[in-house]
Amino acid sequence: MTNPLDELVTKALQRRAPTREEAAGVLTEEFDVLDVVAAAARVRRHFFGNRVKLNTIINMKSGLCPEDCTYCAQRLGSDSEILKYSWVAAEEAAEAAEAAAEAGAKRICLVASGRGPGQRDVNRVGSTIEAILRKQPDVEICACLGLLSAGQAEQLRAAGAYAYSHNLNTNEERYSEICSTHTFADRTSTVREATSAGLSPCSGAIFGTGESDSDVISLALELRELSPDSVPVNFLIPMEGTPLEGQWHLTPQRCLRILALYRFFFPDVELRLAGGREIHLRHVQALALHVANSMFLGDYLTSEGQTGDQDRRLITDAGFVIEGKEEATLPEQRQDLVHIRRRGVGTDVAPNV
Ligand code: SF4
Repeated sequence: MTNPLDELVTKALQRRAPTREEAAGVLTEEFDVLDVVAAAARVRRHFFGNRVKLNTIINMKSGLCPEDCTYCAQRLGSDSEILKYSWVAAEEAAEAAEAAAEAGAKRICLVASGRGPGQRDVNRVGSTIEAILRKQPDVEICACLGLLSAGQAEQLRAAGAYAYSHNLNTNEERYSEICSTHTFADRTSTVREATSAGLSPCSGAIFGTGESDSDVISLALELRELSPDSVPVNFLIPMEGTPLEGQWHLTPQRCLRILALYRFFFPDVELRLAGGREIHLRHVQALALHVANSMFLGDYLTSEGQTGDQDRRLITDAGFVIEGKEEATLPEQRQDLVHIRRRGVGTDVAPNV
């Protein structure tokens, strides 16, 4: 009889999703956690070899957000003693991006708190993107500015943004438990708008907010419908002053199982270790790299990560190499799925009819 984990690997290599029943097995004690990691590692190695992509966050505008996401220290009414500031100047962001790129970061994530950008904000981020690309023309720039209005994704793309990030965070059924000021549908529609504008879609999750196994699986299925190129996996940092303060539900084993499950659901997608990896994975961060092919370097939006030296040591000690800026992250077959239109209206080339 075929081992169920071998069956999951076979399906993943064919880009087929697990069934809900198969997925549930990965999250429970049905299989030993090391067997689960080893199976997911086979998929990771098949599509991504031993490369680890590094990304860095630049928090362009911190705190004072009118939204009320329960997991976020920047939310309305948060008592967290985080840094609070308005927009960082383009040159300051460009200097931070330069330092990150020299330290190995391939993607620069420009993040701003708030429900979504106004026109002045889009212009400001556009100027920042241009300032960064003048110094570091080879980096990928991802904007993460909240809910987008019509035309904003196109403007960001025109300014040089490569990707847009907007996490779904939790599944539709329980979305109102973690936020009351916008909806799950608002989030999916922004991801779709970014994709339509030719931006590489990045959309992920946050775990540790009280979700069940079934919720973890539902979110994976809902994310798959958006066909993201990258899926960041955050583990809740239960910051003081937020409604989820003191909620420590995760164990390192639980985090590994979730990551492995997401590798089975997103076999050829950039799976990124995001916020909370240090405090929740702790001494098994290296095991997580056998599942995820990407991670953040440096600090997060409002909390500090481990040092860059520790991150680089983690990667090399586990037998991985930092992905070069000239290397494609996604496997060739996947990159070929999306072709930016270069014909038809708006061009001099005949339409595809
Ligand atoms: S997650 Fe974003 S939208 Fe929600 S409160 Fe934090 S900064 Fe605001």
